[in-house]
Amino acid sequence: MSKWVEGKVAGKHQWSERLFSLQVAAPEVTFIAGQFARLGLPAPPGAKEPMLGRPYSFVNPPQSAPHEFYFNVLPEGPLSPRLASLAPGDPVWLLERANGFFSMPEVPDAAALWCLATGTGLGPFLAILRTDDPWEKFERVVLVHAVRYARDLSYSDTIARISAQRAGQFSFVPFVSREAQHGAIRGRIPEAIADGRLEAQAGVPLTAENAHAMLCGNPEMVRDTQSVLERRGMRRHRRREPGHVTLETYW
Ligand SMILES: Cc1cc2nc3c(=O)[nH]c(=O)nc-3n(C[C@H](O)[C@H](O)[C@H](O)COP(=O)(O)OP(=O)(O)OC[C@H]3O[C@@H](n4cnc5c(N)ncnc54)[C@H](O)[C@@H]3O)c2cc1C
Repeated sequence: MSKWVEGKVAGKHQWSERLFSLQVAAPEVTFIAGQFARLGLPAPPGAKEPMLGRPYSFVNPPQSAPHEFYFNVLPEGPLSPRLASLAPGDPVWLLERANGFFSMPEVPDAAALWCLATGTGLGPFLAILRTDDPWEKFERVVLVHAVRYARDLSYSDTIARISAQRAGQFSFVPFVSREAQHGAIRGRIPEAIADGRLEAQAGVPLTAENAHAMLCGNPEMVRDTQSVLERRGMRRHRRREPGHVTLETYW
C-alpha cells in the first residue's frame, strides 16, 4: 500500500471561474509522463478513511518541480472545491506512488500519435509532449483539445512553445462546441472524425495503418470516439492484444 506524503502548495493559477492549476512541491513523488497522482486532504469528521483523495493527472513533465495539476471545480464535489481554495504554503497530501498505463512505454509504435482530450483531460498530454519520447517514437503528433467555450482553452502558451519547438512534427487542433472561434472546429470530436473535418485540419490520417489514438477526459467523448474509431478498424490497445486506441476516463 502506497503511503500519503505531505506536499506544499507552491502556486495556484485560476484560468476561469471553475478551472484551476495547482502547483505542489512533493519531491519524493515520482511518475512517468501520462500517469496520475492521488491528491488528498483530511477527510471530514466521521468519515471512514482519514484522507479524502481523488486521482489527478500530472501536467508537468517528470524530473521537473513542482508538480502541477489541472482541474475543474465541481461545486457539489467533496474535494475539488477544497483544492481550489488552497493557497501557497498550505499542505496537501499525495500518495507516494503514481499510477496508470496512459503513458508512452505502454503505447505501440505507429507513424502518428493522436492525443484527443476534452477539458482537463489535456493535462497528461502536456506532460507527455514535454518529454522526448513521443517525438522519437512518432513521425507526427496531433494534439486535439475540445472545450465548450473559447475561454476554456487553457495552456495556450505551453502549447505554442511545444509547437515552436516541434515545428513540422506537431499539429494542434482546438474544438469549441458552444461558440464560433477562429481556428477552432465548432462541434464535437467524434462527429468531426466521422465527417473527415478533423483529419483535414490536422493534415494527418487517423487510420489503423497509420495511427495510435490516446483519448482522455469526458467518458462520453471517449465512448463515442472509440465507436467511430472501431468503425475504422481501430481496436482498443491492451498489453496482451495490441491495438490502436488507449483510454483514460475521468469519471
Ligand atoms: C485516472 C483519473 C485521473 C483524473 N485526473 C483528473 C485531472 O487531471 N483533472 C480533473 O479535473 N479531474 C481529474 N479526474 C477526476 C477527479 O479525480 C475528481 O473526480 C474531480 O476533480 C471531482 O472531484 P470531487 O471530489 O470534487 O467530486 P467527485 O465526487 O469525484 O465527482 C462528482 C461527480 O462529478 C463528475 N466529474 C468528476 N470529474 C469531473 C470532471 N473533471 N469534469 C466534469 N465532471 C466530473 C462525476 O460525475 C462525478 O461522479 C481524474 C479521474 C480519474 C479516474
